[in-house]
Amino acid sequence: MSKYFTFSLDDGVTQDEKIIGIFKKYGFHGCTFFINTGLLGANWDHVGALYGKPGVTHIRFSEEELRSGVYDGFDVAVHTLHHPALKDYDGEPEKITHEINGDAENIKRIFGAAPVGMSYPYGEDAVTEKTIKTILETTDIRYSRGVRPTYGFDIPDDFTVWLPTCSLTDDKTIGLAEKFVKLDPKDDSLFYVWCHGYELDMFDTYGRLEDLIKLMTGAKDIICADNTEFYRLFAERNKK
Ligand SMILES: [Zn+2]
Repeated sequence: MSKYFTFSLDDGVTQDEKIIGIFKKYGFHGCTFFINTGLLGANWDHVGALYGKPGVTHIRFSEEELRSGVYDGFDVAVHTLHHPALKDYDGEPEKITHEINGDAENIKRIFGAAPVGMSYPYGEDAVTEKTIKTILETTDIRYSRGVRPTYGFDIPDDFTVWLPTCSLTDDKTIGLAEKFVKLDPKDDSLFYVWCHGYELDMFDTYGRLEDLIKLMTGAKDIICADNTEFYRLFAERNKK
């Protein structure tokens, strides 16, 4: 039985560069970055104020910055063009298709590979069964991450609402990481942590990230895979 670890970050904000520095220190590449290519260069600094941290920036990379290689060696996937709550478009499904396929086309143009995954803007509560049906029928997206924590290590049955173990901002993260390191699983197991780059500034969790990555890359029996690599491994298996 294998143990897998995967990570993802949403929004494609400038803090990702510092985070990648920590990843590279440990040779870690198991992260997928979900980005909004209709908002490149956008400044959403109101997000900081929303959490009572007005000094924290929320600035997305520009296309030029993306092309300079900031995500080289990492998986980049869809978070829609403009970050809408997709269920608002259930009555106009062509808008859902446009938000996803437009982002996927830009990602292919900039990074060279067509994405097969996304994370839902505002999480799984911002989609309905109808939204998911539209996505499966009109796009090539085959996995979509939500936000509600499972606090568990089960392999997802349903990749259309792929729920993570927890967010890095969650105080339980390191306890879960230590539990996962000790785990002798009866089945294949997955520890999935996600976050937004700006939250590491907001909650000062760079040290927590480093502790997590150190634990995961230091354990000989844990396989680090980005979201797309993991999806491909297990979607094939689940079909059988
Ligand atoms: Zn987002």
